[in-house]
Amino acid sequence: MSTVNLPSYLDQSAEVRERFAKIKRRPVALEVKGLTKRFGNVTALNNIDLTIHKREFVCVIGPSGCGKSTLIRILAGLEQPTSGQVLLNGKAVTQPGPERGMVFQGYTLFPWLTVKRNIMFGLLESGADKGTAESEAREWINLIGLSKFEDHYPHQLSGGMKQRVAIARALANRPKVLLMDEPFGALDAQTRAKMQAYLMDIWKHIDVTIFFITHDLDEAVYLADRILVLKANPGEVEEFIEVPVPQPRSPDQALSEEFLATKQHIEHLIHPPSDDDDHLNLVRMVHVDDDVGSVF
Ligand code: ADP
Ligand code: MG
Repeated sequence: MSTVNLPSYLDQSAEVRERFAKIKRRPVALEVKGLTKRFGNVTALNNIDLTIHKREFVCVIGPSGCGKSTLIRILAGLEQPTSGQVLLNGKAVTQPGPERGMVFQGYTLFPWLTVKRNIMFGLLESGADKGTAESEAREWINLIGLSKFEDHYPHQLSGGMKQRVAIARALANRPKVLLMDEPFGALDAQTRAKMQAYLMDIWKHIDVTIFFITHDLDEAVYLADRILVLKANPGEVEEFIEVPVPQPRSPDQALSEEFLATKQHIEHLIHPPSDDDDHLNLVRMVHVDDDVGSVF
């Protein structure tokens, strides 16, 4: 992306400024304090501090290997930090728990269970009786528009449908936080755009904080209240950006100056402009994140 004259991404309209002031007055949902994670002599994450408020939508972006997946796995309680702490509503996170729902890029549905059974699974696990689990699962299936598919198995669904079921399954347990690691990374552009709109719509209606990893700048700016930009070797916070685009979002905002200014700023953070920029652009597209190698 070439540099054009845009206002600063730091300029916020009165409306946007008021929105962020309101968010900061909300209780803290997730707090990360002095978090460091080493694998042997690789420091995947170094001294990360974050404060995320209730019902915020945070996107995380950064070069491959900067520790995004490691961070989300620690938030999920799937991985232990080397030092430092994660607090959810003031309580230390040490293992997975029902107050954190997860959706990853690979389809994580149980292939041997129907759509309805997949969504009922977590509800039954956390002690709901069968009747309650079934009626709640039906409500979720209705919400994601898959009523005709409740008795279908995952292999009978499209990629977008599978991710809708994965989101419903994660939300059915009414988590405080939804952790998403490149959930739409394997979808084609059109399905991906639909899923983004769909996730925004759900988030408007549900009291949940979202922590969403992506390597797609447009996706990050479209979805996020704030964007956490990480840098690699070691993984550290580069900047935690307040997106100056008003909420609620719509796809036509992608052409607004605020949107473009934010995107350009992050682009420069991740890939500082250089003399042979044209050549680098191609390399960048291919190497932006090797998690998606199979897509290219
Ligand atoms: P990202 O998701 O941003 O691409 P990761 O969190 O997957 O980055 O990885 C961050 C760094 O930690 C990389 O250098 C990676 O090789 C290393 N790493 C991640 N998980 C492990 C592991 N289980 N064992 C050893 N090294 C790991
Ligand atoms: Mg990753």
